[in-house]
Amino acid sequence: MTTKRILDFLAARRPDGPCLVVDLDIVERNFLRLADAFPATGIYYAVKANPAPEILKLLASLGCSFDTASVPEIEMALAAGATPERISYGNTIKKERDIARAHALGVDLFAVDCVEEVEKIARQAPGARVFCRVLTDGKGAEWPLSRKFGCRTDMAVKVLERAHALGLNAYGLSFHVGSQQCDLKAWDKAVGDAKQVFRTLAEKNISLAMLNLGGGFPTRYLKDVPSTRAYAKAIHGAMTKHFGNRLPATIIEPGRGMVGDAGAIKTEVVLISRKSDDDPTRWVYLDVGKFGGLAETMDESIRYPIRTPHDGTETAPCIIAGPTCDSMDVLYEKTPYPLPLSLEIGDELLIEAAGAYTATYASVAFNGFAPLPTYIVGGHDDDALAA
Ligand SMILES: *Cc1c(COP(=O)(O)O)cnc(C)c1O
Repeated sequence: MTTKRILDFLAARRPDGPCLVVDLDIVERNFLRLADAFPATGIYYAVKANPAPEILKLLASLGCSFDTASVPEIEMALAAGATPERISYGNTIKKERDIARAHALGVDLFAVDCVEEVEKIARQAPGARVFCRVLTDGKGAEWPLSRKFGCRTDMAVKVLERAHALGLNAYGLSFHVGSQQCDLKAWDKAVGDAKQVFRTLAEKNISLAMLNLGGGFPTRYLKDVPSTRAYAKAIHGAMTKHFGNRLPATIIEPGRGMVGDAGAIKTEVVLISRKSDDDPTRWVYLDVGKFGGLAETMDESIRYPIRTPHDGTETAPCIIAGPTCDSMDVLYEKTPYPLPLSLEIGDELLIEAAGAYTATYASVAFNGFAPLPTYIVGGHDDDALAA
């Protein structure tokens, strides 16, 4: 949702190059919607989705907790005002010295998915709470997370037994059903699998206390998505189906669903051309591409809404590409994107719902193009600040 505040900022400040503008009031609305739909669940914002300090500060002030993947992300959450009890070190892949640093900063909640990682944590964060991530198939997600993270449920049992034997607090399980998960049923199988692990470990006198339901909450791009309440209802249904009335503590880790629709990228048409006189398809080159923050167009997975000054007029399919000299830097080609026939070089476009997984994905200076700047509007301080 591109708010009037974002449009006013762009009209008044006229930033020269491409930029992301984020409206904090939308982030606040998204947090309050999640908190309202999941009243008994801890909300851990996945910092990687957008770590702008103003966003972290706003969420910390609203009582949100944080899912982090590295020591710098932990430090950013602390700098924003979160206390260490509100921070989870959710990356299953950590250097042993980073575990020690996190522990020294007061962090006490760690993700694991193998015995090797448990051993590191037992050495560097004795007594800490650990949760084991289990594999999911990611079906139904537009940005699936594949097999990189998590282990099978039979291995999760062994991982948490080992944690318990080493004096750690075998605290719970986690999963992630895949990002931009629009199938409400995706949680049912994962919760059912988790229940099996809870039961098996209970038989061994290890009682888990927590189930981390991960992220996956969507942003509306071109298609409608179910409401936050519909997710809450489906997930609550899955929890009571599998756990009955003995529900463990739960947490969720929204990233995209917290910030995706809070930002828009302003971009400019650099070139419109064709490959031959009779080529029916226009190539439209923008000043932002895969290396400038639009990495999630990889495999054309995420299809952003694009607003032009000529919306409502006749369109034809275009191939959209970025400005760099890498031939990979094409955004939409397999499925061309309809843009107005009257589109002109120099037109400014808005790539909407781009608040998540964009600015931090921009390269440092590939081909000399600067990383995508972020501007923050809204919130209690209405002045726009460069982040
Ligand atoms: C990236 C990530 C998230 C956030 O996922 P979204 O689909 O953006 O909500 C949550 N948890 C973990 C462990 C992650 O790596």
